[in-house]
Amino acid sequence: MKDNFSVTSSRPAMILAGVLMLLMTIAAALLLPHANQPVISSNLRPVMITAQALNNSIIAYLILLHFYVKRRPATGLLGTAFAFSALMAMYRLLILPGLLPKPYGITPGSHLSVWLWFARLAGFALLIMLAMLCLARQSKRPLSLHQSGSFLLCCLLLTITLIWLAIQILPPYLPDLGRLISDQGDYHALHSSGLLLVLLLCWTGALASVLLATRLRSAFHCWLALCCYGYVLYLVLIFSSSHRLTVGWYASRFFEQFAATVMLGALLFEVFRLQKRLQNSYSQAYETSIRDSLTGLFSRRHFDNVLDAIRHRPPELARPFTVLMADIDHFKRFNDNFGHVQGDNCLRQVAACITQQLRDGDTLARYGGEEFIAILDGCNEPDAMQIAERIRSAVEQLAIPAASDNPAQRAVVTVSIGLYCQPATALPEEHQLIEHADRALYLAKHRGRNQTCLLPGCTVPAGR
Ligand code: GH3
Ligand code: MG
Ligand code: MG
Repeated sequence: MKDNFSVTSSRPAMILAGVLMLLMTIAAALLLPHANQPVISSNLRPVMITAQALNNSIIAYLILLHFYVKRRPATGLLGTAFAFSALMAMYRLLILPGLLPKPYGITPGSHLSVWLWFARLAGFALLIMLAMLCLARQSKRPLSLHQSGSFLLCCLLLTITLIWLAIQILPPYLPDLGRLISDQGDYHALHSSGLLLVLLLCWTGALASVLLATRLRSAFHCWLALCCYGYVLYLVLIFSSSHRLTVGWYASRFFEQFAATVMLGALLFEVFRLQKRLQNSYSQAYETSIRDSLTGLFSRRHFDNVLDAIRHRPPELARPFTVLMADIDHFKRFNDNFGHVQGDNCLRQVAACITQQLRDGDTLARYGGEEFIAILDGCNEPDAMQIAERIRSAVEQLAIPAASDNPAQRAVVTVSIGLYCQPATALPEEHQLIEHADRALYLAKHRGRNQTCLLPGCTVPAGR
């Protein structure tokens, strides 16, 4: 089953998650004997609930963004789970006694406080289980755009309904839970109430469902499992302490925060990896788009862009440049004699040979079939002639056997070259520049091939 969060490979994440789980367990085990020891510190409860609300909101936001891109129902439900937890934490913050000034604060009594704490944790775990059930059953096809919109609406309705049930509907029908936590923060009675046991069952169930449904195939799954494990430890520490602001109570909150922070880190890492992948794909696609697949030279489109940029540079940067056109002589005959596969090989060799003779700043492109075009920037007539002659002679020295009119004569592949040198001023249109070089090439062909011509005057290189 191909699933949404599979960008990062799971092996290193699995090892890291395992190490973290071990460290968390050791830390919890070390803290257990001191769980009831009071901590001399101010009450950090509002800060912790705020962090919880914010962390879970960002996690929900990132997961739902993932759903928006991939449109997998399991991801939508997982985002809903974190959104539910975040909203419940926000409401809990509102009803925290003494936090908000009198006219704004809601003071519902400890019954609702205990109930909301239970409802948030249980609802959160159940929604994770639902997401994992959905993951195990979801088809390979993502939802359509229309379906994903409706699905998101259903998730929103589910969250609102659950919160409404938790805040408004259920509390009056429940037995008084306020007695489970005294005003001084003693929650000894909670241990024997069964609520903790239910929560422990919910979170071990959530952990098991993550392990079974995902089999820890991706890094994200490992971090999700670690998050569930963090909640299990949170509950174990609540079990082993019996008063707020004790070591156990603080440590339990720490594990809850740690679990959420790990999830947040994992999601941000996935976003970073996706961005990196996108960047690589873009670079690859761009490189492919500007290259000719046979020779690896630049494509004609890229050549046009470079020429355009040279033509439009500011006057203070203007300098002369040369347009060089090279064409393999009698290439049709070569193909007819040796076949197109050999013809392709010949094209590759000639392209590589011409590249070797140019400077880094020059742009060489495949103009068409067996024609190549180059811009030699900053190159005047004498230099251009020298470079062209170097190219012509290098191709000849490749000594690629060619077909000849006269079977008795040993022939090699050669190129004819046309040059047009443009002074820094009075730039003609782009097509005119190419036309000039093409005319020079035509003259080189006309004069017997395997030679260089330069417009306006046509010169046969010395030494031939
Ligand atoms: P000239 O000396 O006047 O340039 O003669 P030519 O035979 O080289 O020129 P012509 O335009 O008649 O033939 C060009 C040949 O190049 C025809 C075509 O089969 C061959 N060609 C064009 N593109 C490719 C290619 O990608 N691979 C191969 N193998 N051949 C190609
Ligand atoms: Mg040719
Ligand atoms: Mg040609």
